[in-house]
Amino acid sequence: MAKMLKKEAMQYRQALLKLKDRITDDVKHISEDALKKSPKEASGDISGYSLHMADLATDAYDREFSLGLASNDRNALLQIDDALKRIEEGVFGVCEKCRKPIAKVRLKALPFARLCLKCQRFQEKP
Ligand SMILES: [Zn+2]
Repeated sequence: MAKMLKKEAMQYRQALLKLKDRITDDVKHISEDALKKSPKEASGDISGYSLHMADLATDAYDREFSLGLASNDRNALLQIDDALKRIEEGVFGVCEKCRKPIAKVRLKALPFARLCLKCQRFQEKP
């Protein structure tokens, strides 16, 4: 099996770092937004309480949704770090399951992919 050229690996490294930056930024914004939405101001004033309940429910949903999104991002960050490690170890771009090279098209779309498309599809089947 042909090993990935160092120059090529560095390009993926660059893409991964860029992606990491973007996600880190996203997570920061999402967390800030989620914190801002904290309904602490509702605790003091009881007037118009019932009116508030609907708002609170929506807020809570929004917050959970945002945090869930953030956790997805965190998961992606872990995968990116993993991919960066694989680049350093010189095993980047190799499917973890069948040990065949992962298609370049796939790597370009998803630089932190650990499995080739075939193995990924196989894994996703119940
Ligand atoms: Zn595979």
